[in-house]
Amino acid sequence: MAAPLKVVIIGGGTAGWMSAAMLGTLIRSGVADVRLIESSDIGTVGVGEATLPHIKEFNDFLGLNEAEFMRETKASMKLGIRFDGWGRPDGSYVHPFGAFGQPMNGVEFQHYWTRARQMGLDLSLEECSFAVQAVRNERFDFPSEDPRSIKSTFLYAYHFDASLYAAYLRKYAEAKGVKRTDAKVSGVTLKPDIGFVESVTLETGETVTGDLFIDCSGFRGLLIEQNLKAGWESWGDWLPCDRAWAVPCERKDPFTPYTWLTAREAGWTWRIPLQHRTGNGYVFSSRFISEDAARETLLASLDGAPAADPRLISFSAGRRRTSWMKNCVAVGLASGFLEPLESTSIYLIQIALTFLIQLFPRADMAPRLIAEFNRLIDIEYARVRDFLILHYHANTRTEPLWEYTRNMPVPESLTEKIEQFRHRGHITKYRDGLFNPASWLAVLVGQDILPESYDRMADNMPHDVMKQRLDELTGRIRASVEAMPMHDEFVRDYCYVPGTRSLHGAAS
Ligand SMILES: Cc1cc2nc3c(=O)[nH]c(=O)nc-3n(C[C@H](O)[C@H](O)[C@H](O)COP(=O)(O)OP(=O)(O)OC[C@H]3O[C@@H](n4cnc5c(N)ncnc54)[C@H](O)[C@@H]3O)c2cc1C
Repeated sequence: MAAPLKVVIIGGGTAGWMSAAMLGTLIRSGVADVRLIESSDIGTVGVGEATLPHIKEFNDFLGLNEAEFMRETKASMKLGIRFDGWGRPDGSYVHPFGAFGQPMNGVEFQHYWTRARQMGLDLSLEECSFAVQAVRNERFDFPSEDPRSIKSTFLYAYHFDASLYAAYLRKYAEAKGVKRTDAKVSGVTLKPDIGFVESVTLETGETVTGDLFIDCSGFRGLLIEQNLKAGWESWGDWLPCDRAWAVPCERKDPFTPYTWLTAREAGWTWRIPLQHRTGNGYVFSSRFISEDAARETLLASLDGAPAADPRLISFSAGRRRTSWMKNCVAVGLASGFLEPLESTSIYLIQIALTFLIQLFPRADMAPRLIAEFNRLIDIEYARVRDFLILHYHANTRTEPLWEYTRNMPVPESLTEKIEQFRHRGHITKYRDGLFNPASWLAVLVGQDILPESYDRMADNMPHDVMKQRLDELTGRIRASVEAMPMHDEFVRDYCYVPGTRSLHGAAS
């Protein structure tokens, strides 16, 4: 049997510890040896608390107990994102982790909704989604496993404390045999002939060699950029936000089962409820507002007393031209960052690790595996990019940032999607990558892009039958949502950490 592949992970943020946990599962079978090097002097980016439902698959793959994970990370449930002021200053819509209605007679639901709307029926798309109604009513319960139940039509994710998640995964990874060193990497040696990373040198003087290096060093891209010079593809013209102020505050109600994003003059603010605090931030473009003014806007928007001074984080939207080069795979912020609008970064970490495990190399680093990994990652980034740009582009706001994004040329792939939807309500399905048609539907309609016509097959259903089925759907949703517990009650019963803050009716 071949010797275990010597894997060295640089970085101990969310990306580093997710990598260590996942690759740590290869230790017992002798496939890999895993060592993680992080520097507590440098620290982590310290944000990244909202996730997508895929995170549940990641935790399940590791075999984590959900209630324990939520207690340890002081988590709350997330059914989607509420967008206020996007599209129009007075608009509000929800991007849910769930379906809108169900296809009928093989025709996608949005065509019936469009037909109903054009016939004058007063039916909002929101009424047709279980997850949106749960969001609007701040309720949560687990989805049903019975596919006939309306309660089976949604998924959920979490909000969690990022530093506690990293600490939790660290415990898991170390129990699997991952070795950790707290030291700063001060030098990198490349093999002169082939340019592979041979070793890293620590400030302590130790030299650490490896077969495969995972660069989780954050924005700096210590290996992938500073040494291997992968190059940067900027998407800043389409996604102009380049700064964020972040500040936690005392937790106040509502304890929402959703991330709440409000469009502002030069970007947007987030509000993320955790059991022990609320996370807040203002993501903005420094071309359109000063740092000081953005800080004031954020502080004025808080609904509880700030629990720390606001912290400024600078970034640019884009990605490394290549995520896997030679014997180095960049994961997390080292591989790119679009912006936090749809909580996609942790997903991109997870999917990179999934592909890496599927294509796990031997010491020769077969170029075919590398090419396939990079092809898959390219698709993921491009898909996320178009979806994010849509949020900025489809708007009728009057501030300079929003005028700029409304008028900017967008990628051809996005124009095509918008026009297909506008023309006939069509949404292309992907085999791989984010986001599914329901997500596109939510944001397109939420930002006032409405279909001019629909699939004529929807006309095959008699009008009264269609109306009856739509009434039944919305009635079932309403009744089922009303029967669910409030989100704060649910968390209290399932995974509440005593002493964090009094949840509805819980002893503090
Ligand atoms: C404003 C903002 C909001 C965000 N919100 C979300 C969100 O809601 N959802 C989401 O999915 N993502 C979000 N993200 C992205 C998310 O924060 C990151 O994807 C995630 O935290 C992973 O970061 P990382 O581990 O790649 O980098 P970091 O957290 O920066 O970790 C880098 C690690 O490398 C180590 N390191 C660096 N240099 C050296 C060296 N020389 N020697 C040794 N160690 C070194 C550091 O010590 C640290 O441990 C957000 C990002 C920003 C900027």
